[in-house]
Amino acid sequence: MSNQLQVKPPAPTTSTSTDRAWADLHTHTTYSDGLLSPPEVVAQAKAANLRAIAVTDHDEIRGIDAALNAAKDFDIEIVSGVELSVTHKGIDVHILGYFVDHHNSKLVAFVKDFQQERRLRLDRILAKLAAMGKPLSKESVLIKAGTGSVGRPHIADAMVEAGFVENYYDAFSLYLADGRPAYVPKKKLAAAEAIKLLHDVGGLAAIAHPGLDVPDEIILEMVHAGIDAIETVHPRHGDARRQHYTSIAEANGLLTTGGSDFHGGRKINERVGDFRVTYEVVEKMKNYLSKARTAWV
Ligand code: AMP
Ligand code: ZN
Ligand code: FE
Ligand code: FE
Repeated sequence: MSNQLQVKPPAPTTSTSTDRAWADLHTHTTYSDGLLSPPEVVAQAKAANLRAIAVTDHDEIRGIDAALNAAKDFDIEIVSGVELSVTHKGIDVHILGYFVDHHNSKLVAFVKDFQQERRLRLDRILAKLAAMGKPLSKESVLIKAGTGSVGRPHIADAMVEAGFVENYYDAFSLYLADGRPAYVPKKKLAAAEAIKLLHDVGGLAAIAHPGLDVPDEIILEMVHAGIDAIETVHPRHGDARRQHYTSIAEANGLLTTGGSDFHGGRKINERVGDFRVTYEVVEKMKNYLSKARTAWV
């Protein structure tokens, strides 16, 4: 499986049929904390000659229809995805869902509930900031979030605009990051609940970027909880980590996936498709789901 997952750093500028056999299966849009709208992400994906992208907003699926509509003009396949915030034994884990039915009422209700929780959390973070002499209006943050789910990146942007910090990263390191004075934890699903939700809505579940502090024991517990795949290709995974997680996937009969975790230029010099997998990964997911879905119902 390892030879099918490759990183190809510079996005190609010319179009050939072989260039198009790539997929970036981890992207964020303005519906969560990405800076580009779904059509803008799709346009970049086209410019990078990708054959498919997955839209995987944090706890949010409302950007998928906009991406699907934009993709009609661009001949690009959109995989309907989501990145769920999960906690397991006190450890934060992100779980990517792929090929979810984003109109399924169970998923729609879940997302709505999460949005409400995020707004309550925003109130609590703003109260902490105000108590530290950094009052921000709720509106100044919500306007950054637009139609999408509101999160700490939007608060960081509003803090920069209000002149409370010099830049986005200072907002995290001084106030918003875990352990800093304005930190408020987010409501998170249990891992087993997240995996069940994704299966119930027809999708498969992948552990996102395990290289970001997810111990191997936790990965193995996710395997027992029914996880289907591991994200091996990610900007924060070097060669050693990629190989390590590919071995874990092979040993446990899991699929592998990957992408750039694109946030629309929030990270310096990032572009859709900077980290990618071969389109064969998408085909493997489809084959897997055609069998697994019957077992899940
Ligand atoms: P939230 O979902 O509101 O907890 O925000 C999570 C997002 O904030 C992550 O996806 C990152 O994009 C960003 N983030 C979290 N921690 C940091 C940090 N220390 N520095 C910069 N960005 C961060
Ligand atoms: Zn993010
Ligand atoms: Fe993540
Ligand atoms: Fe992500």
